[in-house]
Amino acid sequence: MQQFDLIIVGGGLAGASLAVALRDTPLRIALVEHQPPQRPAGWDARVYAISPANAAFLERIGAWRHLDALRMAPIRGMQVFGDAGGRLGFSAYDTGVAELGWIVESSLMACEFWESAKRQGNLTLFCPARPESLAFSPDAATLGLADGSVLSGRLLVGADGRDSWVRQAAGLVAVNTSYGEKGVVANLETERPHRQIAMQWFRDDGVLAWLPLPGNRISIVWSTPDEHAEELCALPGDAFCDRVADAGARMLGQLRMLTAPVAFPLRLMRVPQTVAPRLALIGDAAHGIHPLSGHGINLGFQDASELAALLAAAPSWRDIGGERFLRRYQRARREETALMQTTTDSLRRLFRDSPPGLSALRNAGLSATDKLPFMKNALVRYALGAL
Ligand SMILES: Cc1cc2nc3c(=O)[nH]c(=O)nc-3n(C[C@H](O)[C@H](O)[C@H](O)COP(=O)(O)OP(=O)(O)OC[C@H]3O[C@@H](n4cnc5c(N)ncnc54)[C@H](O)[C@@H]3O)c2cc1C
Repeated sequence: MQQFDLIIVGGGLAGASLAVALRDTPLRIALVEHQPPQRPAGWDARVYAISPANAAFLERIGAWRHLDALRMAPIRGMQVFGDAGGRLGFSAYDTGVAELGWIVESSLMACEFWESAKRQGNLTLFCPARPESLAFSPDAATLGLADGSVLSGRLLVGADGRDSWVRQAAGLVAVNTSYGEKGVVANLETERPHRQIAMQWFRDDGVLAWLPLPGNRISIVWSTPDEHAEELCALPGDAFCDRVADAGARMLGQLRMLTAPVAFPLRLMRVPQTVAPRLALIGDAAHGIHPLSGHGINLGFQDASELAALLAAAPSWRDIGGERFLRRYQRARREETALMQTTTDSLRRLFRDSPPGLSALRNAGLSATDKLPFMKNALVRYALGAL
């Protein structure tokens, strides 16, 4: 049996960032992952809008400065369009910040964390590895791997994504609500420059986001009903690009395909208890959110940041797997997670449901908010993680 203080199952962005954040602590860490991350040949189809608060977290753990700046795009502004003429705009300049966030490829961050974890003195990597059994005693969590290894830790963290094996093995409940939608993602080349402005349309057929990539390139996320998503993905490349260009009022001219569309099923997932004795969940294992607000991994990074801060500050006599200690983590993350989930879910429903009069009202609401600088500032500062 191999002894650790902390076992992290799942070395995706949430799990690996937690491991790296604990580099300078005396904790002995095991990181258990199915497969190492890989960089695709061209642009990664998965790109994320990273908030300034999380860029700061990645800077603190020493990862941000190593990311290739030529592959990242700052967001200098954002335009939101309603389905009946409503419009709301934000700009970094008006908010008094240099940028509203950054668009970064998922695998760029994942590979940076992975390389850093490999060099980390207090960390043992188990990869490729497949957990098979999980048991808890009053003092330890014991994880059995398919190759016969047995790991024991004072605390086990489940960072193994939305279908978390850890969550299920530990019997923690997840309440799932399917949106009946998929997120269609693709990277496209644009005829006209995007000037680092992100754009989002609330449409009858879902929510379409255009996120700026370096150069004349954008990444799109079209959250749309299952059937429409499948139809979009089956279109020939040129026809798909035309559809996306038309849906965005041809604001950036003609579009050309860089990476073919891929669809991800979307669901809201609430996990009422994210901790139990010897166990904590972080990232998508702990929550699922509609991608329209681009907050999935941003919540995951904040989970990692909060848990890492608590673990790093714990004196050596503190039982880091004790329920009382872990409840501090759960309390610290519960409010933001619930607020983001509820706000995003309400926004999605507001623009999907169509009782008479609601369309005019919600579009008027967007335009009215646009004329209230104080309100806009508060909204954007909250989204940036500045409050
Ligand atoms: C269409 C779409 C667009 C999105 N856009 C954004 C955005 O703009 N901004 C944003 O913040 N978020 C966005 N998200 C959300 C984001 O993708 C997720 O929140 C994020 O990937 C979750 O990271 P994670 O590390 O928690 O989980 P994952 O990325 O799922 O990582 C889990 C890791 O655990 C490993 N694993 C799984 N099971 C096991 C096991 N049993 N044993 C060992 N290892 C295991 C996996 O191999 C993987 O490496 C989007 C999501 C979708 C679907």
